[in-house]
Amino acid sequence: MYWEPELETMPRQALEALQLKRLKQTLRRAVKSPYYGGLRREGKITPAAIKTVSDVRSLPMTTKEDMRSHFPYGFLCVDRQQTIRLHCSSGTTGNPTVIFHTQHDLQSWANLVARCLFAVGARDTDVFQNICGYGLFTGGLGFQCGGERLGALTVPAGAGNSRRQIKLMQDFGTTVIHTIPSYLTRLHAVFGELGLDPIKDTRLRLLVIGAEPHTEETRQRIQQLFGVKAFNSYGLTEMNGPGVAFECEHQNGMHLWEDAYIAEIVDTDTLDPVPEGEVGELILTTLDRHAMPLVRYRTRDLTRFIPGQCPCGRTHRRIDRVVGRSDDMFIIRGCNVFPMQIEGVLMRIPEVGHDYLISLVTENGVDEIVLDVELRVQGFSDDFAGLEKLARRITHEVRDEILVTPKVRLVEPGALPKPEGKAIRFKDLREGRCLQ
Ligand code: AMP
Ligand code: ZN
Repeated sequence: MYWEPELETMPRQALEALQLKRLKQTLRRAVKSPYYGGLRREGKITPAAIKTVSDVRSLPMTTKEDMRSHFPYGFLCVDRQQTIRLHCSSGTTGNPTVIFHTQHDLQSWANLVARCLFAVGARDTDVFQNICGYGLFTGGLGFQCGGERLGALTVPAGAGNSRRQIKLMQDFGTTVIHTIPSYLTRLHAVFGELGLDPIKDTRLRLLVIGAEPHTEETRQRIQQLFGVKAFNSYGLTEMNGPGVAFECEHQNGMHLWEDAYIAEIVDTDTLDPVPEGEVGELILTTLDRHAMPLVRYRTRDLTRFIPGQCPCGRTHRRIDRVVGRSDDMFIIRGCNVFPMQIEGVLMRIPEVGHDYLISLVTENGVDEIVLDVELRVQGFSDDFAGLEKLARRITHEVRDEILVTPKVRLVEPGALPKPEGKAIRFKDLREGRCLQ
């Protein structure tokens, strides 16, 4: 069952022909913007020279810094009057990046999100509660419009206020939720406080989780807590937001919608394509955007193409769970570490709760990793010997994974700060570093 059978199951050759046609159109549009127009004058973008989809590799890449330095209108290639909405990506320093949309762009985006929701089994009969920030963040309006396009009763619940979220779920019989994974474990705790069980006391039948990195172990936990399947959703503001890549019912990688994007995976240093199936940085080119096409945008997200075909019959290639951003990786005592490696270890240990914080600190001139780890069960902290043993086990298992011995501090469930938006699980407080 597909939302758009012809497009989703299009034979590869036809799909590539469609990509080529759309790439040419995109470049002809893009060069109307001050930024890409400048690149055309310098001879770096020549739309007529594109003969095959792989010719995309001859084009210059676009970075977040390029977008920041041409803020706000340098990438706009239509009259401002034709634009009807903008979104900004979550930047903490300097100019944010801003994306403008025309009527066409918003319709195309909503359709992609509807396609994703349909692929995991959501239907127009569902009550779809969208628990995330509305406003400039794309998860709010992106899923709102996608849910409406699908025809589901879409509840713009917004972020936070867990008791009200639970009341909305009960009042309207919510069957599908979209939210960030770090919020679901908190929501589950509030169910507990109210003496309710999400499995027995709601009509929930599926979850969509995304917008922040999480491991397979975290997904498994969430599925257990809520008793339904949780599907991974990938997107970024620069590429609209949600609706770029999404799991299907098989949960074995996210189909990246290749009628709307050209995806490449490259080595972060050489920027050459990595061999099929290896991890590298995802580079995306928009194929159906009018106001602000982007050519070979460097996402900084690290993933790989999953080789082979998906049993669902969709022909669009799948990307693997994002292991992190190239700028998430930290180097400590000569070892390269991704926070997700640590999360993977923690979430496999049943006594560990759902939240943790990785801090890098300098103690007596030596860089250390301090891991604050929430316990799963309240009151367990009375068992001193048990705690010691657990801390030792965490220390050893993390060391085996990352080759650096962390300092582990166990804290009560709920003790770590919980921001309303995406989780903050990493702080670099080492001497000479910016505070994060
Ligand atoms: P923003 O544009 O502010 O919404 O942030 C987009 C970024 O969030 C992406 O570039 C990824 O780094 C991250 N992200 C979004 N979805 C996922 C996902 N499903 N898994 C891991 N990271 C994600
Ligand atoms: Zn599939």
